[in-house]
Amino acid sequence: LSERLSGVFDRLTKQGALSEDDVRTAMREVRVALLEADVSLPVAREFIKAVEKKATGAAVTKSVTPGQQVVKIVHDELIGTLRGEGDPGALKIDNPPAPILMVGLQGSGKTTTTAKLAKRLKDREGKRVLMASLDTNRPAAMEQLAILGAQIGVDTLPIVKGEDPVAIAKRAKTQASLGGYDVYMLDTAGRLHIDAELIAQAAAVRDVAKPRETLLVVDGLTGQDAVNVAQEFDDKIGVTGVVLTRMDGDGRGGAALSMRAITGKPIRFVGLGEKMDAIETFEPERIAGRILGMGDIVALVEKAQETLEAEQAERMMKRFQKGQFNMNDLKSQMEQMLKMGGMEGMMSMMPGMAKMSKQLDEAGFDDTVIRRQIALINSMTKRERANPGLLQASRKKRIAAGSGQEVSDLNKLLKMHRQMSDAMKKLGKMGKKGLMKGGLG
Ligand code: GDP
Ligand code: MG
Repeated sequence: LSERLSGVFDRLTKQGALSEDDVRTAMREVRVALLEADVSLPVAREFIKAVEKKATGAAVTKSVTPGQQVVKIVHDELIGTLRGEGDPGALKIDNPPAPILMVGLQGSGKTTTTAKLAKRLKDREGKRVLMASLDTNRPAAMEQLAILGAQIGVDTLPIVKGEDPVAIAKRAKTQASLGGYDVYMLDTAGRLHIDAELIAQAAAVRDVAKPRETLLVVDGLTGQDAVNVAQEFDDKIGVTGVVLTRMDGDGRGGAALSMRAITGKPIRFVGLGEKMDAIETFEPERIAGRILGMGDIVALVEKAQETLEAEQAERMMKRFQKGQFNMNDLKSQMEQMLKMGGMEGMMSMMPGMAKMSKQLDEAGFDDTVIRRQIALINSMTKRERANPGLLQASRKKRIAAGSGQEVSDLNKLLKMHRQMSDAMKKLGKMGKKGLMKGGLG
């Protein structure tokens, strides 16, 4: 992705503002990136449409760094889509004992996630948790939960041979009430694929337990399949959230976006490994970064920006050397100064400017003054800015009045411009290097 976007942004930065065509070109690349990250085609399409609409809006056309704008808009839109309502980590567990139903395909990480969440509830919220395995298909699965329970110090419902899942769910409920547990978690059986029996069983358990939370566990590496699974589980059982496992793997995280866009279900947690602490609440920023390879892009945008500024500085340099330092230049210098910590900071970085800096200091020259002077320049016409020599009495009066200041204020500005202009010329003769190194850019 980054390589491809790099090309696009290189092109964008040459222009200064985003046209509709620019956006469209960039979006083609973003679309490929999304598909590569396993985002489903219809979701990628919808997403691009939304971003395109925002990107061709006013905010972008007035932007000086279009690349950054595009990245930001894409990034923001990703986060907006990924973020669900409310705090993903806050499980509804008031009214003890609160049942939590864990569903999902076999091998998705249900049992592991059940134990991870139980440990989290115990460690972080001091809850007493009871875990029960309803996986009657595989006796080893019940053993697995018991072993994990012992490992993390969370009780598991004793295993009784020959019971069906609904009976186990009932027993868990009774045991949780009698034993004074805050939460009981039901780890259901999974299959390799969704089938009628799996759904019927989960639905029967759901009807008995009336869970406060039904968490669907899906393998984050399975991409589009994970979304189909989620859709089906939600239709048939109803889920309150999704846990994406194996996000420690090299999946691109696109499943998360499709999941949100298609099912509308909030992603609550992500599994980040096999260890019992390897679970985190879902953070849209992280997944968004992963989908876009954001780290790279940010670096890229910064580089692009530097190039842009260097080009501008160089262009300005050339004009200064020819003694062309007009009011527009002065204005952009002043704006730069405000950005860079005011007059003093700026001057101290420029060779030969120390003396003037001192003078300005003595004159009480601060940021407010700079702002007022920018206002004066803003009152000038285009021609006047390009050629301050035009400024005779009547024009001066108009400009001063236009910015709510006195002609004497304008005269001070003009004097400063002259001084700077002379200094620039001298610097110009000294050669390009001196000024560049002085930190004009
Ligand atoms: P279940 O069949 O849905 O109950 O799945 P399990 O909980 O038994 O998990 C299947 C395998 O996936 C086990 O080896 C787990 O250790 C592993 N696993 C579960 N969650 C994660 C995860 O977030 N990251 C990684 N790397 N492995 C995981
Ligand atoms: Mg299991």
